[in-house]
Order: sequence, then structure tokens, then C-alpha cells
Amino acid sequence: MMFEYRSICDICGSEQAEILLSLHFTDPLVWNFLANYYENKIDRQVLIDTKYELVKCRQCGFIWQPYILNSEGMDMLYNQWISAEQSKIKKQEADIALYSGYARQVELIAYLLKKKPSNIDILDFGMGWGYWCMMAKAFGYKVAGAEISLERIAYAQNNGVEVIEDITQVGERRFDFINAEQVFEHINQPLYTLNILVGLLKKDGIIRLSVPNGQGIESAVKKVKWRPIHDAVHPLEHINCFTNKTLMRMAGLAGLVPIQQPHMLGQGLLGKSYNRNLKSWVTSLGGKYYRRYWGTTLYFQRS
Ligand SMILES: [Zn+2]
Repeated sequence: MMFEYRSICDICGSEQAEILLSLHFTDPLVWNFLANYYENKIDRQVLIDTKYELVKCRQCGFIWQPYILNSEGMDMLYNQWISAEQSKIKKQEADIALYSGYARQVELIAYLLKKKPSNIDILDFGMGWGYWCMMAKAFGYKVAGAEISLERIAYAQNNGVEVIEDITQVGERRFDFINAEQVFEHINQPLYTLNILVGLLKKDGIIRLSVPNGQGIESAVKKVKWRPIHDAVHPLEHINCFTNKTLMRMAGLAGLVPIQQPHMLGQGLLGKSYNRNLKSWVTSLGGKYYRRYWGTTLYFQRS
């Protein structure tokens, strides 16, 4: 068995969950998506007798997949079923919008903290190939990245990125800013992990959490025409599905409070990058309120 089962809400600890969706992974609806998305790399045998399920906590509304791959399975998913080579090329040959988005994100950090980059120590948790770290480094910040994929770690190190191998073994070092871009939807124990990260923040440090937005997922999966896509409940990968409310709730339980969401984010309302003209500024101002109350890219400080 490559799977484990999560019966308890990771956020509030409740055992009362409502089943929103329950299909075998080998059901054609799910299987066709997986076979296509992972280019027939998944061994069907591994998924047989296990379900793609979505449940919602009756207490806090958090939605998650109870059947998740165990560490051996996760290893297979992220190292074999997902092509590292393609993922790397996607970053290497990305559109300018990706890099300019990173530049705006890292520029913002010094303004938020009101310090010079040279006085700011950053951790990028789940850094992938290290491109965000490289950008932060170019701005003069002190920056380190954490990552589980050995191939990505080696690549980042070759590009001069400092790597933290185990976030529970960082000693006395504390960070002014922690970035977690598209990480918390993938991990088994999100609140537990967030608590560790909060412990690594300096007193006035800021943490940025960005996850796919699961708003509307519940009604979407109940529709007759629903089929799996690469969204907030992507089978096997996006095992935790957050909305603004549940992300805020998890952050609150980890001792975080949201800070005023900044205007000049690297990404606009719909995740597209924008130019600094008047129109985009107005959009970003509106987006600021959107992000605070509906968004799932949020900035927090320790309370
Ligand atoms: Zn809950």
C-alpha cells in the first residue's frame, strides 16, 4: 500500500467531516485525467482500490483529500511521475512575466520590513529550482532555500543558492521573511509545518503564504459535468484545499495575524503580471481588498 489515510481535520482537529466527492482513482473520470496529466507514467496498479476523495470539515470548513500517498508514494510522484526535466525547462524557458513577478515580490520585502536588503534574512520554503532565491540574492538580500527534491537542491546550489536541508535543524538563525509559494497544498501536516516556520521567524518577521484558491470547489465538484483539472483539488498533488477563510484560520492557530495586504504585489488579481501604469495600479488597489477577503496569497506577522 502506497497510501495513508487522514481522518482528522489538520486545522481544527475535528473528526466530523462530510464527504464531498468519492471516486476510485481508477474510475475513468479520474484515471483519464491522471494518465494524461502524468503522461502515462503512473502505474495503475498502485492506485487500485484507493479513492480520490474530498472531505470537508463540519467545524471549520477545511477541505482535504483523506487518501494521500505515503512518503514512498510521494517520492515516486515528485521524482518519477512528474518529469523533473520538464519542470526545470519550464522555469529556464519561462516567459518574462515569471521573472518580473519574482522581482516585484522580492522588491516588496524591503519596503514591508523597512530595512535594507543587506539587513534582511530570507527563507524560501519549497524553493524548487531556486529561481526566486536567485532573484532575492540579486537584490542584495541574504537568502536560503529549503526543498525536498535532491535534484532541485543540487541545481539551486550550483547556481549559488544556500540550502537549508532540514528546517528543524537551523540552530539560532531566525528569518525576517519566509516565503511559501505553492507549498502548503502539497504537504501532509500543514499546520504542524506552519508552526515550525513561525518558530523560525524573527519577532517582527513576515511570512507569505500562497496556495491555489479553493473558493467555489465545493459547488463545482457537485456538478454533473465536473471532472478533475489542475486546480485546488488536483488529485494526488493538492491534498489540502484552502480558501481565504481556512488559510486565515490555520495562520491564526499558528500565532499569525494578517498584515495589511500590499498594493504592489508581483502578481495581479488573476495571477497575471501587470505593468506599472495607472490602470494596473487601480486594479491592484481593488485587488488589495480582494486579496485580503477572498485571496489565498497572504502576508502575515507573528501576533
Ligand atoms: Zn476543521
